[in-house]
Amino acid sequence: APTREMLDDLVAGKVASHPCYSRSGHHRFARMHLPVAPACNLQCNYCNRKFDCSNESRPGVSSTLLTPEQAVAKVRQVATAIPQLSVVGIAGPGDPLANMHRTFSTLERVREAFPDLKLCLSTNGLMLPDAVDRLVALGVDHVTVTINTLDPDIAAQIYAWLWLEGERYSGREAGEILVARQLEGVRRLTAKGVLVKINSVLIPGINDQALPDVSQLLQASGAFIHNIMPLIARPEHGTVFGLNGQAEPDAAMIAAVRQRCGEIMPQMTHCHQCRADAIGMLGEDRSQQFARIPEPEPS
Ligand code: SF4
Ligand code: SF4
Repeated sequence: APTREMLDDLVAGKVASHPCYSRSGHHRFARMHLPVAPACNLQCNYCNRKFDCSNESRPGVSSTLLTPEQAVAKVRQVATAIPQLSVVGIAGPGDPLANMHRTFSTLERVREAFPDLKLCLSTNGLMLPDAVDRLVALGVDHVTVTINTLDPDIAAQIYAWLWLEGERYSGREAGEILVARQLEGVRRLTAKGVLVKINSVLIPGINDQALPDVSQLLQASGAFIHNIMPLIARPEHGTVFGLNGQAEPDAAMIAAVRQRCGEIMPQMTHCHQCRADAIGMLGEDRSQQFARIPEPEPS
């Protein structure tokens, strides 16, 4: 088994070339997201299914779904136009791992056609334990898991329900299942040297006090960076939080929580909450330039 030092070296190399993870990288490398994953297996109270998964994306935008075949054709189109393209990620518009077939079929096709591109994925983590081996086998180097709390009672305030193996769970029970599976998934990924970033949506009065615990345990579980994203909850987004008038964090709260968590784990502060079909350098979105859905490539 690799030692901790070997894993640390591996991680440093992987950080440097990913636009989302390294400050220097984000001016030199471009990324694109492939919106191939429509379904989700749970319901976050900050999400409206009409829009992209808010675990990684800014709420209120929706991406046009691509088939795996169209997605590969699109990678080819973008790689030709943007030579700095280095990372291809799947981040929605639902949860990538609630769409195992579509997600893995896309990753496999991209891996085969573009062996040099880095693959990345973001997920709510519910199905992560079932996906670790396949992700590692495909060389998916970067995985983002949204973990908003480790406390099942707090989870019950954030998630309305989840589906697992044909059963529907809610409340504290759903929270216990989700947290246990998120942690198991993260630990198994980091044990294999996969770079794991943790996203947390900061929800005032619900998890603002609990996020340092998330940093603490996830740091100990081998995750390498924590990205605290302010809740965006407007009534017009039609989310439970938006309709209930749940407060969004102000700049002072965001700074204070990042400061506390930053004493435990490196913080990501240049995240742009990009959409599930974002294309370009970080902070830039050229998805409109590539809006035409390409013809699938003959297989
Ligand atoms: Fe990966 Fe997220 Fe960056 Fe997209 S924005 S490339 S999913 S880390
Ligand atoms: Fe929405 Fe993403 Fe949460 Fe699923 S995991 S409910 S798509 S924010």
